[in-house]
Amino acid sequence: MVHERLDKANRCSFCGRDRAPETAMVDGPSLAICSDCVSACREIIAEAAATEPQVSRSIPTPAAIKGHLDHWVIGQEPAKRRLAVSVHNHYKRVGLPGTPSRADIDGVELGKANVLLLGPTGSGKTLLARTLSRFLEVPLHIADATALTEAGYVGEDVEAIVGGLYDAADGVLSACERGIIFVDEIDKIARRAGSDNTGRDVGGEGVQHALLKLLEGREVRLKKRRGREEVTVDTSGILFILAGAFVGLDDIIARRQGKAAIGFSGSRPRAANDDPSAQPEPRDLNAFGLVPELIGRIAAVARLQELDELTLVRVLKEPRDALTKQYQRLFRMDGIRLRFTDPALAAVARIASEAGMGARGLRAVLHRTLMPLMFELPSRADVREVWVTAETVRGEAEADLVLHSETG
Ligand code: ADP
Repeated sequence: MVHERLDKANRCSFCGRDRAPETAMVDGPSLAICSDCVSACREIIAEAAATEPQVSRSIPTPAAIKGHLDHWVIGQEPAKRRLAVSVHNHYKRVGLPGTPSRADIDGVELGKANVLLLGPTGSGKTLLARTLSRFLEVPLHIADATALTEAGYVGEDVEAIVGGLYDAADGVLSACERGIIFVDEIDKIARRAGSDNTGRDVGGEGVQHALLKLLEGREVRLKKRRGREEVTVDTSGILFILAGAFVGLDDIIARRQGKAAIGFSGSRPRAANDDPSAQPEPRDLNAFGLVPELIGRIAAVARLQELDELTLVRVLKEPRDALTKQYQRLFRMDGIRLRFTDPALAAVARIASEAGMGARGLRAVLHRTLMPLMFELPSRADVREVWVTAETVRGEAEADLVLHSETG
């Protein structure tokens, strides 16, 4: 046995060369490898690391992206799926910060994929962008399309937006060029057909063209300013997420669907809004007032639904940083357990829903409810537990306090 092992170790088990004083050998239990083979292995591993599977492995799969979004964004399943696919494809193309660009693998230029999120206020559009940027560890800049209108001077606007991302990237150009720019209220710069018969650009067609400059992936020069040298940013790897409520788009879709149905003899024209999640087609967005060039730059449209009361209750409880968890943590710092009855959470959801601001209204309702408790309880040592009821939320009764003395 011993002889056999020694025989084997006298040669490199990979290339078969004999052990010699000038060649270092690494010995294993029953084999050995010479230094030349170690170098060859290192090269093979480095080459494998540079090939495609390795890069795409470092980019989270759509399922992984969606899985992460699920921890923070409640509901909106189709939108999360669609966004996850777009984001995965985008970073497959441009690479995450620190990975090489994949834009022209095999000479095939993969087109720039910008995303449009449609959904009412407080449905999670900005939250999706924030969550993505945290997960992917890329910088995020949130811009407002209506600010573009007001500023008027197109060149300045575009520079300001890219400059915002550059700042968010702490001046690291490579990170900035892989970041996310979220442009909110894109529907507010739509050209409104019929709103002006002088032919003047009332809706912001000029602003849409300014945005195009960004979406097309051109280079943008940021002028020198305090604390920043002049820098040229290549925007082709930046992921643009455009967002807006697009009130009235459903009617446009329904009208188009109705007309299309009438075109087929004998088929029943579809009723307006019989499919609230209907996917808009490019011509619907055009009818809404987006210029065709801008629409042509949007690779995916994801729709978010208005959050109903049941989903709002989930928003109160389920996200990693859910509002109820935040307040419970705050109360725990005073040694008090904060508890909500189910009807209390339903009442918060109802009031927020009636305010028409989606999940955005939840914090204000909860804050108003807990305000008297947050004032009083830090100066009381006798309270062990607080129960917030539906009546507390509606301002009809105070919260129930459980004292230490009551529980023994
Ligand atoms: P908008 O669609 O107007 O961009 P936001 O994403 O800014 O809405 O949402 C406002 C706040 O409401 C968020 O900070 C988040 O706390 C909450 N919120 C909105 N939608 C959701 C959701 N789907 N899941 C969890 N929280 C949400």
